[in-house]
Amino acid sequence: MEPARITIFDTTLRDGEQSPGCSMNVPEKLRMAHQLDRLGVDVIEAGFPIASEGDFAAVQAIAAVIRRPIIAGLARACRPDIERAWQALKDANRPRIHVFLATSDIHLKYKLRISRQQCLEQARDAVRLAKSLCQDVEFSPEDATRTDLEFLLQIVQAVVEAGATTVNIPDTVGYSMPAEFGELIQTIRQRVPGIEKVTISAHCHNDLGLAVANSLAAVAAGARQVECTINGIGERAGNASLEEIVMAARVRPDRYAYKTEVVSEQLFPASQMLSEITGVPVQPNKAIIGRNAFAHEAGIHQDGMLKNPLTYEIMTPHSVGVPDSTLVLGKHSGRHALNLRCEQLGYQFERRELDEIYRNFVVLADKIKHVEDHHLLELIRETHAGRRIPPTPVADLPLAIAAAAGSGRDYPQKPLSFPLPAEFSPSGMPVNPMAEHHSEQEDYLWGV
Ligand SMILES: [Zn+2]
Repeated sequence: MEPARITIFDTTLRDGEQSPGCSMNVPEKLRMAHQLDRLGVDVIEAGFPIASEGDFAAVQAIAAVIRRPIIAGLARACRPDIERAWQALKDANRPRIHVFLATSDIHLKYKLRISRQQCLEQARDAVRLAKSLCQDVEFSPEDATRTDLEFLLQIVQAVVEAGATTVNIPDTVGYSMPAEFGELIQTIRQRVPGIEKVTISAHCHNDLGLAVANSLAAVAAGARQVECTINGIGERAGNASLEEIVMAARVRPDRYAYKTEVVSEQLFPASQMLSEITGVPVQPNKAIIGRNAFAHEAGIHQDGMLKNPLTYEIMTPHSVGVPDSTLVLGKHSGRHALNLRCEQLGYQFERRELDEIYRNFVVLADKIKHVEDHHLLELIRETHAGRRIPPTPVADLPLAIAAAAGSGRDYPQKPLSFPLPAEFSPSGMPVNPMAEHHSEQEDYLWGV
């Protein structure tokens, strides 16, 4: 039997962008949107147009140039939001208005101060209005997993009747358990008349580390769209991680018979780009795209790996776009590639050390075409021996950086005041973020 096709709804640029330290400007969002397009996601939620001029401009810009995927814009369930979203989206090849309204008693009582009846009418009216503007309308009952079940079923039925084409079930606060979330999706499918005409979607947060497990449970129960983000960024503990959802299906089709159109080799580049744009690093042991996801340090593991990689690898680094040992280091290589190669050569560096090597690497890479392992080992040895290579004159740095970045790519500079969390101190001691940055060039290097 042909595996069921899952729609990948990427909300890196909306839910992800809302998370602390992850805000992006319009050119950054546009650059990320191009990568999401290359990655093959089905839907890009580009922003929340009424939230700010910047968000509006980003959604509009993405809608104008990214033509393959559906471009979604978020709106609260009210006329100004919906009209603003439509204004930003109307030039899209495939626009979608995503309307949301909280439905749990706790949100109705304390946040919205409306009754269930008012909530029901507002949801229905909002979907009708959105539908009058756009064929593709998604509705999300915010905090669905803490909503009274009977009321949730009423709301879902009302929005389906009003013309919603996708009904998204958000576990807004990351409260649900996998079996429970699967049952909820199942119940909605069984009890809402007309639900078979619409796509059921899952939107899970990771407060208990269960966002991906909950999303997979939803898919097993009949959801056919998953909302997720690159690197799992998002409000609080984040959203379901796109790369994990995609690779679960790729690695275990025997237990999880679903397919996506995602080009898995673009996962690592997407992860890297997001980290570079936001300046927020990926945790080293992060599944699929973390620095250590394919690193084998224990002797017995290395021995097994050399005999046959299948002994300890359930997927190849190549399949998710991680450069392998044939990687050529040149002036287009970034810090991560350099770091990866150093690790392959058996060296693990703290940030400061790596920065020093990187700084000299970009100068060298500008002079010679390919930096071979022996060049790199020499750089490493010099750093280790404490025989510091004279610091690159400041005047030369922009040139070296431009060379490293490649002339055709625009690497926006991070603001000087980018807050560096205390845990980034190599010594583990809290650091003064400003003391970390002596010059703009220095700051730039941290983000490459
Ligand atoms: Zn969310």
